[in-house]
Amino acid sequence: MGKKVMFGRTGLEVCPLIFGTLPLGPLQANLSAEEGGRLIRHGLERGINLLDTAEMYGTYGHIRAALDGFGGEVLIASKTHATDPRTARMHLERALREMGRDHVDIFHLHAARLTDPLQERKGVWEEILRMKEEGKVRHAGVSSHLVPVVRALASSSEVEVIHPLINRTGMGILGGDSKEMAAAIQACSDAGKGVYAMKALAGGNLISAARASLFYVKDLPGVAAVAVGMLSAAEIDANLALLCGLENDKSDWQVLQSRKRHLRIMAMFCNGCGACVKACTNNALFVEEGRACLREEDCILCGYCAAACPNFLIRVV
Ligand code: SF4
Ligand code: SF4
Repeated sequence: MGKKVMFGRTGLEVCPLIFGTLPLGPLQANLSAEEGGRLIRHGLERGINLLDTAEMYGTYGHIRAALDGFGGEVLIASKTHATDPRTARMHLERALREMGRDHVDIFHLHAARLTDPLQERKGVWEEILRMKEEGKVRHAGVSSHLVPVVRALASSSEVEVIHPLINRTGMGILGGDSKEMAAAIQACSDAGKGVYAMKALAGGNLISAARASLFYVKDLPGVAAVAVGMLSAAEIDANLALLCGLENDKSDWQVLQSRKRHLRIMAMFCNGCGACVKACTNNALFVEEGRACLREEDCILCGYCAAACPNFLIRVV
């Protein structure tokens, strides 16, 4: 417990395990703010100091509950998927209001598959930089699934933090493979960016080889920390032990590695509108006979489809 690493040139020091809050919220396990808050608090009390969230995740209440009465310093990273500056500002204001804070430490352009995010959402990016000048955002970042984007951002002087998708098998990586993403990550780190990885377990698809998959990402040159979505105290303890290099009982991993999660579509109520298909970065969904269908082998459980369904028919269980 307590291990911290330098986070690029941001001046921040972070625990190598970052609490990914996506699975706690309505897109996945749908825990109450109190239940989710208790899990986050468990992590905070054991040394995690950066929480990763997003407008889309619906977990600000969980974070607020976790922070209630907690004395330690906690860093927050959030993201906006807004396509216009006004909405981006609204997203940040909501984050601050719902978490009860006057700033977030990192605010990302949530840009899974945009090929040139700083140009395609120029207005949003400029608004993030304005909010940084106002002191509401400490560091500006970009989250991306695309190798060419991560590679290109290495030379941006404005981007301080990168949140790339990387895992051993390359599942979910767009525009290249794991090796190419690893090289892009190293270029970002060499340029002084703070890099924390997402989807090291490909949204749970690599859960049966979780230890090996986490080791792969943790040991990549340039990766300062790994964000992992966690739904139990046992997972938090095991991941902390692994990423912070502590001793741990290996039998925990046998249990943890047997817990696979799945995407469920309540097809009965589906009208085949296709909004989920458009939202999927991995082409894992298609509409057949008026209903959304899943190619499970291509799904990284990112939850984007769940956020896009107007009828709330998609869940990760
Ligand atoms: S089907 Fe949904 S959860 Fe799976 S990869 Fe596509 S958007 Fe993500
Ligand atoms: S977005 Fe929802 S309603 Fe539309 S096709 Fe997908 S699951 Fe069906």
